[in-house]
Amino acid sequence: MPCYDAAIIGAGPAGLLCARNAARANLRVALIDSHEDPGAKLSLAGGGRGNITNRIIAENRYISEHPERVRAVLRSFGCEQALDIMRELSLPFEERDFGQMFGLRPAFLVAERLAVQCDDAGVDFYLGSTARDITPPSASSAPAFGRKEERRAVFSLLAGRERIEARRLVTATGSPAFPSVGVNTDMIRLAARWGHSIVPFRPVLTPLVMPQNWPLAGLEGISLNARAGLLREGQELWPDPEGIRPLLFTHRGISGPAALVISCWWREGDELLLDLLPELSVTELLDARESGKMLARNILARHLPARLADALCPEELARRKAAELSRKDRLRLAEAVHRFRIRPAGTEGLKKAEAAAGGVSFDSLSRRLESLVVPGLFFCGEVVDAAGLLGGYNIHWAFASGALVAEALKQSLRAERPSGNRA
Ligand SMILES: Cc1cc2nc3c(=O)[nH]c(=O)nc-3n(C[C@H](O)[C@H](O)[C@H](O)COP(=O)(O)OP(=O)(O)OC[C@H]3O[C@@H](n4cnc5c(N)ncnc54)[C@H](O)[C@@H]3O)c2cc1C
Repeated sequence: MPCYDAAIIGAGPAGLLCARNAARANLRVALIDSHEDPGAKLSLAGGGRGNITNRIIAENRYISEHPERVRAVLRSFGCEQALDIMRELSLPFEERDFGQMFGLRPAFLVAERLAVQCDDAGVDFYLGSTARDITPPSASSAPAFGRKEERRAVFSLLAGRERIEARRLVTATGSPAFPSVGVNTDMIRLAARWGHSIVPFRPVLTPLVMPQNWPLAGLEGISLNARAGLLREGQELWPDPEGIRPLLFTHRGISGPAALVISCWWREGDELLLDLLPELSVTELLDARESGKMLARNILARHLPARLADALCPEELARRKAAELSRKDRLRLAEAVHRFRIRPAGTEGLKKAEAAAGGVSFDSLSRRLESLVVPGLFFCGEVVDAAGLLGGYNIHWAFASGALVAEALKQSLRAERPSGNRA
C-alpha cells in the first residue's frame, strides 16, 4: 500500500500549489481529485481568462468570521507572489480596473501547467478518484514505514479504488458553490464529525433576485456604474471598499460586479440601496442654471439610460421643468436616484454563486492552518472560512493558503524526520 508524506484532497488552485511546493521540498505527495482534469472550477474563472490576483491584497476584501486570521495568511503571500506563479508558468497577464490581474491565456492553462509542475516534482496523481473512507491516525492501525522504530501514525483513505496512507492529510476540497462543475462536501461533513467548528456555507458573488413587478422590472440588458449598499435594521451599510462598480439589470433582478459584491453581505430581510448615478449629484444637476428650462426627466436621461430615467422619475415630476421644482421635489428626485430602495426576494443561490462564504472555522485551525482537533490534518483554499470579493481574491486565497500549508507540511515533517528524505 503506498504511503505518502502528504495526501492532498482536491486539485483546485489550493491543492495544486500545495502539492507542487510540498513535492519540491522533497516530500512524497499524493494529489487526489474526483475530476479527471485538475482545476475544474479554476478553468471557468474570470470568464475563462482567470482573474488570478489583485494589486490590493487586504483582509477587508474577504468575508470571514476572523479577518485577522485572513490577514495573517495574506501577510506572507501578496500579489507579486501570485504573479510569480504565472511567470513561472510562462502565462502572461494584464492589469484591469480595480487592480484586477487577469491571465491573457485560457485559465485552464494555469491548472494544466501547475499539474505539469506537480508531475515534474514527483507528485502522484489520483484523478477521477473520490477520496473517502478516511480514518485519522489514532484510528488507523497500519504501520507507515518498514522498520518498527520508524512506525508513525498515519491517515488511511481510499483514493478511488486504491487504499493509500499518508502522514499528513490536506483538505483542499473547495466549497459547494457552482455545483454544475461537480462539487463535493463530504470532507466538510467529515470535518464537522471530527469536531471542527464549521461556519455554515452561504452563497456569495451571486446575482440578486427581485420581487416580480419591482419598479425597475423590464430593464434587462441595461448596465451602468452604481454603488450598492444595504439597509439593515434601520442602519445604512456601504461595505464594498471599491464603492462604484458596474451593475447589470437582468430578467430576474440584478447582476454584474456591483450586485455580486453586495451579495457577499446581503442577508434575508436586508433592503438594498442603490446609488444609480454615483459620480454626479442629482440636486446639483437640477440646480444648475442651464437646467432651469429642461424637464426633470430629460435632465436625468442625459446621464442615465432613458428607460431607467423613466422608471426612476416619479410621474408627477417627470414633465415639470427643473425651475418649477420645489426643494422637496428636488430632494425626492435625488433620493430616487441616489438611494433607490428595494427588498430583494433572494439570491440566485449556490447554483450561480462564484464562491461560498463559510467553511472550516479558524477557531479550529492553528496559524499554519493545521487542525487543532486532528493533528496532521490541514485545510486550505475555499473550504476555509474566507471568501473573497470579486477581483481575483478567491484564487489568490487558494494560492496563499495552499503555499502556507505546503510550508507547514515541510516544517512539521522535517521536525519528525531530520533526514528530510522521501519515504
Ligand atoms: C464561474 C466561476 C468563476 C470564477 N472566477 C474567479 C476569478 O476570476 N477569480 C477568482 O479569484 N476566483 C474565481 N472563482 C472562484 C475560484 O474559482 C474558487 O474560489 C477557487 O477555485 C477555489 O479553489 P480551491 O482550490 O479551494 O477549490 P476548488 O477549485 O473548488 O477545487 C476543489 C477540488 O476538490 C475536489 N474534491 C472535493 N471533494 C473531494 C473528494 N472527497 N475527493 C476528491 N476530490 C474532491 C473537487 O473535485 C475540486 O476539483 C470563480 C468561480 C466560479 C464558479
